[in-house]
Amino acid sequence: MAEWHSVAPGIHQRRYDPFDISIVVIEGDDGVLLVDTRAEPGEGEALRDDVRERFDRPVRWIVNTHAHFDHTFGNQVFGPDTATDAAIHGHENIAIHFAEHEEPRLAAWRADPTREPGRHWHDVRLTPPTHPVGTPTTLDLGGRIVDLLPQPPAHTDTDLVVFAPAERVWILGDLVEESGPPMYGSGSFPLQWPGVLAALADEMAPRDLVIPGHGRVVDRTFVSRQAGQLRLVADRLRAAHDDGLTAVEALARHHDWPIPLDFLVSAVERAYVQLDQTSPST
Ligand SMILES: [Zn+2]
Repeated sequence: MAEWHSVAPGIHQRRYDPFDISIVVIEGDDGVLLVDTRAEPGEGEALRDDVRERFDRPVRWIVNTHAHFDHTFGNQVFGPDTATDAAIHGHENIAIHFAEHEEPRLAAWRADPTREPGRHWHDVRLTPPTHPVGTPTTLDLGGRIVDLLPQPPAHTDTDLVVFAPAERVWILGDLVEESGPPMYGSGSFPLQWPGVLAALADEMAPRDLVIPGHGRVVDRTFVSRQAGQLRLVADRLRAAHDDGLTAVEALARHHDWPIPLDFLVSAVERAYVQLDQTSPST
């Protein structure tokens, strides 16, 4: 699994364990752009060495698809005060998301190492983007253009899509997942996510290539289908809330969820918090 796979000329995906995370390299004349940095500094260092071995140009740009630890905890290996000193691009909300979600997560793991044995959480220094992105931004890598498209709240409030317009390749982070179900993790927006993903699918052409945050390359049909699954979940949770059902009752109401039930526990929690806030009667 862990080999560079050429998705399009100059664009390469590598799937790393643990987490089957997608790392993407985009080559330019002036250097390479690396999408996501793995889950801890040691993994980031291994990634840096793998990139150095395979590509003959320096890593000039890092892009984070979102704030989650498995995509960003290697940032410190490439960022300020390192020999690489790459420009780290990511959604403008990442620093806030780090403070609200990843910092407490890290503190809990450090306090109880049995929860994640074999990991090196004490080595992690949260490294937010040096270049926060709030509006669509184009990077010129030298002979290749890449668009950074920050998204409204969906999988998180920090999702950013990378699009290579000439090659018609989309890098979606965890907005779409192939090797596992879509993950409603910390800071997800289950009610908004389907609309964001459907809008992206609308922008895609049938032959466009889509690299998910976890798993093999997919296409527009796959993205649309996953948006539909997320839509069904959102509609059912909204209806259950309207009918006064508890979170447990909401999940028990149906036996044909498109996503495994244990993945929906955080979905209903997050959706209910949001619906309670907007509900006029309660
Ligand atoms: Zn994620």
